[in-house]
Amino acid sequence: MSPPFLVWGLRAELLTGAVCVGVLGAYVALRLMRGLVTVGIGARWRRMACAGLALAVGGGSAHVLVISGESLPGVSGHDAAMLGAAFVATLVGALAAQILLVGGVRSPARLIAAALALGTGLSASPWLALLALGGEPGIAWRGTGLAAAWMLACVGAGAALLLVPVSSRMQGSGGRKQLVQAAILLGVTLAGTDLAVIISARVPVALGAGPATPGGSDWLTLLTLFGGPALLALLLLVAMLEDRFRDLVANARDELQRATYTDTLTSLPNRLLFEERLKRAAHRADRGQRRLALLFVNVDGLKGVNELFGQNTGDALLRAIGQRLQALCVRELVARVGGDEFLLLLEDNPTVAEVSQRAAQLLEAIARPCSINRRDVVVSASIGISVYPEHGSLARLVPHAAAALHAAKDMGGATYCFFEASMVTGKREEIELLRDLRSALENNEFELYYQPKIHAPSGQITGAEALLRWHHPRRGMISPLVFIPLAEQNGLINAMGNWVIEDACRQIRAWRMQGLRMRVAINLSMHQLRQPDLAARIVAALKRNRLEPRVLTCEITESIAMDDNQGTLTVIKQLAALNLHLSIDDFGTGYSNLSCLRKLPATEIKIDRGFVLDLETSGDARAIVDAVVKLAQALGLKVVAEGVETERQQHLLSQFGCEELQGYLFARPMSAQALAHWAMNHEGPRSLAFRPSLFGETKTFDVT
Ligand code: C2E
Ligand code: MG
Ligand code: MG
Repeated sequence: MSPPFLVWGLRAELLTGAVCVGVLGAYVALRLMRGLVTVGIGARWRRMACAGLALAVGGGSAHVLVISGESLPGVSGHDAAMLGAAFVATLVGALAAQILLVGGVRSPARLIAAALALGTGLSASPWLALLALGGEPGIAWRGTGLAAAWMLACVGAGAALLLVPVSSRMQGSGGRKQLVQAAILLGVTLAGTDLAVIISARVPVALGAGPATPGGSDWLTLLTLFGGPALLALLLLVAMLEDRFRDLVANARDELQRATYTDTLTSLPNRLLFEERLKRAAHRADRGQRRLALLFVNVDGLKGVNELFGQNTGDALLRAIGQRLQALCVRELVARVGGDEFLLLLEDNPTVAEVSQRAAQLLEAIARPCSINRRDVVVSASIGISVYPEHGSLARLVPHAAAALHAAKDMGGATYCFFEASMVTGKREEIELLRDLRSALENNEFELYYQPKIHAPSGQITGAEALLRWHHPRRGMISPLVFIPLAEQNGLINAMGNWVIEDACRQIRAWRMQGLRMRVAINLSMHQLRQPDLAARIVAALKRNRLEPRVLTCEITESIAMDDNQGTLTVIKQLAALNLHLSIDDFGTGYSNLSCLRKLPATEIKIDRGFVLDLETSGDARAIVDAVVKLAQALGLKVVAEGVETERQQHLLSQFGCEELQGYLFARPMSAQALAHWAMNHEGPRSLAFRPSLFGETKTFDVT
């Protein structure tokens, strides 16, 4: 005969209390679980442990509440180890479920495994708690009831975990509602599982012998009933504070992110964001074998608008243009990347015709008058277009669009232009050349060549012009016409010019030591003339080489000499005051102002090669040279003609009264060594004599 079993009373108010405490525990736990993967690893473990604790406390409290209404007089105490195991079961189940969920990409398999772990923990807990009652004879169990409890726990846990993903913070009212629903579901599951396990327990009446103790132990009941909810409330408070803090940090981060990636004037994405998106777009295009088009839009004449109407109008105009571009390219990426520069990315595999059409639309939209402060402002724009992958790698896409933009500007603006390889070949070469030019001085790659100047009446050599040569390690000899402008544009000319001064003086001294007293002309760049210490530098070089200033002529091109810049004029006057000869080079190419010419302390003018070239064929050129010579004579200036290539030119120039001639007819520029060899051995390019005064004594001169 089986022993008689206790009939569970199960009071409704206690069951309701159990559901409430279960829901509270579930709410705290789920709130801690949501968005777990978005927090750092330390905070994640802490939140997972607290979530497990909340479920264990909620489940434990619910269990104590349910059985506190039962009379178990035979139970004098609990098996502490077993009670601990009951508590730990939920904790471990909850931890295992969370580890499974955060450990990889969310998938049905992962969710089922997590539901099984949590469900097992939740259902094992009341079972172990009942076993903790101990006593003899022991509790008999209904297997089906236990199985039903386990299944209920797993399904409820799975549904709650489905509603509250660990990957998202679920913000907003929708998220909050979902969290509450999940908490109710899990809380009811908690209480329901507990109830199912209790009902499955067949407790022998014998356990009921002796004095009655509700739930088996007073202290435990009280502790659980008051301590449990209090602990849950505390955990909830901590979770809420932590969420609040996280929200504040996240908001600050979002704001920072927005500021980093947004152009403040137009609120469009900025260059940083554009480049990031462009990278991703290129990856997508690579995968899908699709084409991208990048449009580099530049507003023509914004500077004029700023100057005429003020910066605020310019800013308003840029905002309006940004809006128009955005309105025309709703689905595309539009960014402002510079003062008046916008970039647009067309991603939907556009054809050339489609891109052209879009560019034309954009130009038209920008050209429409903008009403700013009740004033119509009209500007145009130019667009450069590069297409990926046809026009080069991802890294070259923006520079190539910029090159195409330059081409569009060169065509007069208000148009668009597709990239072509020829637009950058020259530029790339220039960049490479500049790189090499920066190290050319250090690498000793420069040399001065000397081209003799001939006294026209006697045909004798009177001096030479120093012309710079660059021996490029790979490209061979490069003309100064190529590298001097590059050096001038990139701040290298002063160092180069200083080297020329030093080397020319050194060479004059070296020739003197060989018995050749040569007068040398050096060319000065405009940038050198802006150096206030130019005169001092030349004096120092002359002094070092014990040379008198008369031996040096400074050639300054006409356009620079006539520049009415006071600084330049001061330096020119300082040079003349030193007794250096000043020569106005390339005369006739600039706009000479006679009064300016008169004021300049020059001693010589050099007629530009262009006039000499036309002498034989053009009556105008002859008239100009004749007039220039007469003018120079009237002003007391010596006239030199450069670029003399034929005997007829030589004859005409001599007739006009040119004192000195220079040109390939007599000699090309040559190395210092070749010039000395010619002078000493009379083996030159033409049977020309060096002026006798160029030879002889090599007396030194002290410049004070
Ligand atoms: P430039 O000072 O007018 O020099 C005369 C140029 O004409 C030289 O070219 C010379 O080689 C060339 N030339 C002379 N005779 C003839 C001729 O009969 N026919 C032809 N076709 N050309 C002739 P280069 O050496 O290429 O120098 C070009 C320019 O580079 C110079 O014009 C000068 O402005 C500049 N330059 C050269 N060396 C220096 C330098 O050390 N410093 C600065 N700042 N500029 C320099
Ligand atoms: Mg010259
Ligand atoms: Mg010249």
